[in-house]
Amino acid sequence: MGGLTERITKTTDLTVWKGEIPLEFVYTMGRAGEEFFRAIKEEGKFIGARCDGCRILYVPPRIYCERCLDRLEGNYVEVSSRGIVHTFTLCYESMDGERYESPHILAMVKLDGTDGGLVHYIGEVSPEEVWIGMPVEAVFRPKRQRKGSIGDIRYFRPIEG
Ligand SMILES: [Zn+2]
Repeated sequence: MGGLTERITKTTDLTVWKGEIPLEFVYTMGRAGEEFFRAIKEEGKFIGARCDGCRILYVPPRIYCERCLDRLEGNYVEVSSRGIVHTFTLCYESMDGERYESPHILAMVKLDGTDGGLVHYIGEVSPEEVWIGMPVEAVFRPKRQRKGSIGDIRYFRPIEG
């Protein structure tokens, strides 16, 4: 076994140590993301960021317009918690590989009047009854259970078109 100064001349002679390196991650959602989740937690509503020049309403909000690079902070507006199923898929297993009793419906929901949307579950409906273009609305958790995360939305459920 060589040391850290081992000189590698042939790739077949590599020394391998097996072990684990402890790492901690901090994931930040950014200033616009914080504002987005604050509105969900405290007010049970969605906000977006509007670029008046480009006529784009970003959801989730951004601090800059990706097209013209204008600053959008301060241009936050409330947007609808209703939308349509833009596309969807079915999940049969959890992240740990455990089989669900019935498949979960995961959808991209485009929010009404905006150019954005959210990826989330669809609830209160069976997989056979979901269709692209189906009108849905967000179901928020009760305020005292909200933590300022995507889990504050239980799912989107179908509504009358
Ligand atoms: Zn713009």
